Amino acid sequence: MGIKTSPTPPLSNPHICIIGSLNIDFVTSTPRCPGPGETLTATALNVTAGGKGGNQAVAAGRASFLTPTSQDVSVSMIGAVGAEDPYYSTLLKPCLEKSGVSTENIEESTDFQTGSASIIVEEAAGGENRILVVPGANHGGIMSDVAQIVGAVKAQEVSPSVIVLQGEIPRKTTLGLLEYFNGGVADDRGCVVFNPAPVFPEGISLEALRNTAVLIMNETEAVQMSRCIAGLSNADAAKLESLQPEELAPRFHDVAGVQVVLITLGAKGVYFSTKSGRRGVVNGVRVPKVVDTTAAGDTFVGYFSTALARFLATGAILEAFDNEIQGAVEKANAAAAKCVQRRGAMQSIPFSYDME
Ligand code: ADP
Repeated sequence: MGIKTSPTPPLSNPHICIIGSLNIDFVTSTPRCPGPGETLTATALNVTAGGKGGNQAVAAGRASFLTPTSQDVSVSMIGAVGAEDPYYSTLLKPCLEKSGVSTENIEESTDFQTGSASIIVEEAAGGENRILVVPGANHGGIMSDVAQIVGAVKAQEVSPSVIVLQGEIPRKTTLGLLEYFNGGVADDRGCVVFNPAPVFPEGISLEALRNTAVLIMNETEAVQMSRCIAGLSNADAAKLESLQPEELAPRFHDVAGVQVVLITLGAKGVYFSTKSGRRGVVNGVRVPKVVDTTAAGDTFVGYFSTALARFLATGAILEAFDNEIQGAVEKANAAAAKCVQRRGAMQSIPFSYDME
């Protein structure tokens, strides 16, 4: 058992499969929040496509457009939405498809609504957010059935060399998928890129995390995930908060056998570390104005996953990615910096050919 380190046979057409959430975000901007029983006139309502899974699929798809007309990595999404949802057909689906993402494996459920996030942005409080999430189809149907998801991955024409997972689908499904794909013995299992966002309140078992190929976390998530793998009491866990990324990362290599650990540091950039000892910081790109950081982390995950899929498609082993990791992190960091200069989630993610 161990991480699957080489796709067999080498793929001429790299393929990434993102398994995750799809949401419609309803964003209302208001001078202030209403009190109980109060009705207020707000400033604007924006309805946009989101969900971490969808955002990361769009980022991976857009990363693969090296020119406006050619895609060098194919990207597919496994997710679920409500059947006959006009927001899916007019907003989410076209956005995914124009970004080069196959929507063939998105289940249209008659039992659940499309997941949604109702977001109130309070202008008087410096744009502070209040968010209500209804998981809907992200927690039902195929998304609650590990065997069905694995079946959908196996049925794809080209086996994905990279599988991307986040934390917005049921914990049980995530644990089952990690255990299956991190099992690493069968040739049709891709390397897992796991972005534990949000971290499940009940945590992630060490068993499931073991041998994950790539773990991508922001600083808060890195602390929370360290708690999970250390099995610490809250008092001891509080000490973790003062630890630096270079002190946190080795725990994931040593305790959980994670090959690549990436800790995103907001405007400060990204810390990277590999099991074989390659480590460093890629500084954040200085931007003239930060407009909206929504989907910055997802842009990073999608771009990095695309670079990894390209590399693995040459037949190289994961460990050899050490020589390429800095370049992959730099490109993903630059793409995320573009994202923060634009408003919104999916629509703020850049295409590769647009990265100058
Ligand atoms: P998340 O959005 O998931 O909490 P971060 O805040 O760490 O994650 O941001 C993810 C990545 O987005 C960063 O590693 C960096 O590449 C980019 N980024 C975020 N904020 C800025 C910023 N103010 N300036 C430039 N790049 C940024």
